[in-house]
Amino acid sequence: AAMPAQRPDWFRVPAPGGIYTRFEELKDSLRDLKLHTVCEEAQCPNIGECWNGGTATIMLLGDTCTRGCRFCAVNTSPEPPAPDPDEPLNTATAISQWGVDYIVLTSVDRDDMADGGADHFARTVEFLKAASPHILVECLVSDFQGDKEAVERLATSGLDVYAHNVETVERLQRFVRDKRANYKQSLDVLRQAKEAEPRVYTKTSLMLGLGETEDEVIQTMKDLRDIDCDVITFGQYLRPTDHHLSVVEYITPDKFAKYGRLGEEMGFRYVASGPLVRSSYKAGEYFMTNMIN
Ligand code: SF4
Ligand code: SF4
Repeated sequence: AAMPAQRPDWFRVPAPGGIYTRFEELKDSLRDLKLHTVCEEAQCPNIGECWNGGTATIMLLGDTCTRGCRFCAVNTSPEPPAPDPDEPLNTATAISQWGVDYIVLTSVDRDDMADGGADHFARTVEFLKAASPHILVECLVSDFQGDKEAVERLATSGLDVYAHNVETVERLQRFVRDKRANYKQSLDVLRQAKEAEPRVYTKTSLMLGLGETEDEVIQTMKDLRDIDCDVITFGQYLRPTDHHLSVVEYITPDKFAKYGRLGEEMGFRYVASGPLVRSSYKAGEYFMTNMIN
């Protein structure tokens, strides 16, 4: 096993900046609805930029996950509380009043639910698009244990971006992700989503610094282009607590830039690659200016 890496001097997490106009607005509404955002829960360093840019990430289906990935600090239980059946409509109604342009809906993994929560997501999208057709919707979801019907239900719900993270290269999957997840299953769900609704953009993310080699990263990009994945993001893995996987390496900004260039050359429609990039980092701003005409 590799020794944990020291955080280099150039690696700085900036204090959230910006004028928190939308930030305050969203915060009040979220509190009223008892909704959680990943932005707040994960203390994401990009919160000022994202929220002021009109992008936020909402968590559906509660805060307790049925899986236990070795990089993730979320609470886990085999039997989380039952989901709130009114959540899809209430969430959609709230979001449509916020004046956001781009919303990311995500959740913990709910292997306890028959369809993994796919229908719950799909109904949220349907209510939201009915109320505010102009809001672009990304769903960042589980692999639904490879359940093709569940993937298709969500892919055809009217969402704009179907996101599912492969998280790391093939060799490191079993060291990093819960044992119910795997590389092939993740590629399959991204392929199935695209096949079910070719209009939908597919998107995935990798954490770097877990011991992957450059060749392995490039191979992963090739595998993703082979299934017509549109968007990829790369960010530095940061250890949430001492009980989680160690950082093996801090990837230099030059290396991130190189992956960004390679990704574009390989035909991804969009690549975000940098130490602080997270799956939904400024996703809205990008889509608004580059992808939707
Ligand atoms: Fe929220 Fe994602 Fe932006 Fe972080 S990167 S603030 S989690 S939308
Ligand atoms: Fe965390 Fe997602 Fe893994 Fe659950 S499935 S432990 S929320 S990364």
